[in-house]
Amino acid sequence: MLRVKCTRFLRFPQVGIMPRGGADGRIADMPWELIGHEAAVDLLRRDLTAGRLAHAYLFTGADGIGKRTLAVQFARAVNCEAPPAPGDSCGQCRACRLIGSGKHPDVFHLQPEGPGARIPIDSTRELIQAMILKPIEARRRIALLTDFHRALPNAASTLLKTIEEPPPSALILITTESADELLPTIVSRCRVVPLRPLPEEEVARALQERWKLAPARAELLARLSGGRLGWAVLQAQLEDWGADREALFQQWSQILKGNRIARFALAQKTSVDRDELRATLQIWQSFAHDLLLRTLSGGAELTNIDFQAPLEKMAERTSPERARRWLSALRRAEEQIDRNANVRLALEAAFLDAPVL
Ligand SMILES: [Zn+2]
Repeated sequence: MLRVKCTRFLRFPQVGIMPRGGADGRIADMPWELIGHEAAVDLLRRDLTAGRLAHAYLFTGADGIGKRTLAVQFARAVNCEAPPAPGDSCGQCRACRLIGSGKHPDVFHLQPEGPGARIPIDSTRELIQAMILKPIEARRRIALLTDFHRALPNAASTLLKTIEEPPPSALILITTESADELLPTIVSRCRVVPLRPLPEEEVARALQERWKLAPARAELLARLSGGRLGWAVLQAQLEDWGADREALFQQWSQILKGNRIARFALAQKTSVDRDELRATLQIWQSFAHDLLLRTLSGGAELTNIDFQAPLEKMAERTSPERARRWLSALRRAEEQIDRNANVRLALEAAFLDAPVL
């Protein structure tokens, strides 16, 4: 059994997918049971019904925007045994069910094995070997490669060879945050399907209607999501989300209130959990961005509405220049850490650029 098979699907919520006969039993206005992304669905459905599927598709867009969910729905539409309409999937046949649960023998999934992990060449090779074989029961053998910008360079060039001369029954679906992050030669051989953020109101509505969140929580998560429904759903399912968020804000405030020694100590403490660091730095940037907005204008709408009062107090005690420098420092630290710099040193340098409160 192939190690790269879809087992890891189950760790993720099937974000955005509306179960058949949901609360109001109404799915007709939701192409592919997906919330939003109508243009992308139209494109894929047209390719499918016109019988001109490309050999490879590249789904691009921010983390948690719905790329993998859309790719899974596409895989279902391609292999559905009883499509209710051309280019659609029934959601109930064996193929639809197995693909949805990540257990279809002809659908393979490869993704990085952890937050900071890369996709290695051996798993990529293993996947490509599997794609050469004829489908066992499906119309098409499908490879789903998620976050492929995190593939090691030799893994990416191995995939390129397969995309250049794809096996006839293979369909390759790749997701990445931005096409710029992949080899141009891979991108040029794929049909690119860009996904855009959903309107904030649409995310809030989906969170209330489909995931039954209370209105205030739905609105906060929608605001923080930047139009990424998958991200919002994932946060909504985290038990300690509120407490963790409070802790992140407290740590961030401590940096601003601390002297040089305290800042070094905080850098040391924060650097320990490298896996969480990227997410932490992004949230901190969002706090810093709000702080900057508040120093510039009293009327600007903040993202972190749950910390509006403390952010306003802090803004009174610093300047736009200091707030801007702090935001850039956090961004720089994230870039440096992405490039494998020494984490503690990157954080120390950033923390020294925080405004002093
Ligand atoms: Zn089906």
